[in-house]
Amino acid sequence: MATALITHADCMKHDMGTYHPECPSRLAAIDDQLIMSGIGAYLDRYDAPLAEDEHLARVHPQRYIDAIRKAAPEHGVVHLDPDTAMNSGTLPAALRAAGATVLATDLVAGGKHENAFCAVRPPGHHATRNRAMGFCFFNNIAVGIRHAIHAHGIERVAIIDFDVHHGNGTEDIFAGDEHVLMVSTFQHPFYPYSGTDDPAPNMVNVPLKAGSGSQQFREAVEATWLPALEAYKPQMIYISAGFDAHIEDDMAMMRLVDQDYAWVTQKLVEVAGRHANGRIVSVLEGGYALSALARSVVMHVRTLGGF
Ligand SMILES: [Zn+2]
Repeated sequence: MATALITHADCMKHDMGTYHPECPSRLAAIDDQLIMSGIGAYLDRYDAPLAEDEHLARVHPQRYIDAIRKAAPEHGVVHLDPDTAMNSGTLPAALRAAGATVLATDLVAGGKHENAFCAVRPPGHHATRNRAMGFCFFNNIAVGIRHAIHAHGIERVAIIDFDVHHGNGTEDIFAGDEHVLMVSTFQHPFYPYSGTDDPAPNMVNVPLKAGSGSQQFREAVEATWLPALEAYKPQMIYISAGFDAHIEDDMAMMRLVDQDYAWVTQKLVEVAGRHANGRIVSVLEGGYALSALARSVVMHVRTLGGF
């Protein structure tokens, strides 16, 4: 079964301004590198559908969804927080990004593909139930997970978040949720300055100091994530795949290299193989150094696809 690649041209139309790091070129760089690497030909591509309110409302209150729709401008740019803004392309992009995880869930839980990667933006893991922040509007991965639980009867989902920032939105949504185990690493102390104060028992958070690299990351995964995942036996695995802990990414101060993304993906493929029929849905989060982002995505997707 080929790996599914889910994306949409609308995701390129969300634009928060010329100097904003969360820029449309991120997806263009990924697409180019998938082609250059030769693996693009082995992926089954799908256009992301628009998420419907029914999907979003499993995560966000209806009044929040309505407020985002209402805030969307026809012209110009509207800021929802100092670094999170909407232009005329944002709403369709955000709906496609969330819809991608719904389609990915249907394809993977339905057995059409063993795994899927959603190359989408805006990202989602900072979006809480009722707040847009940190470049995020809807919590894309949470929308997919709730769909897996409600539409496919999945009872145990593991979330892996290796973005350099703590996934505070995902934690806000799933803290205490009996259907979910979340494991994550993130630079700390660092934006959004969460994840260390008394996390819920289903949150396995490993804060890493600025300057941490391959060794500290791999030790955290082996000592903390893998035992927790083995004990939990997830029926499906979701990855918040942010690539901003890369040494070339100056958004943060961690020092991972391309190979670390292949390594961690392989570990997760093995966990999924043992417990989840191989089922993995991975969703792009951060990653702002375009070349490093695109190369790391290729490492990640190549490992998901087993080629
Ligand atoms: Zn990030």
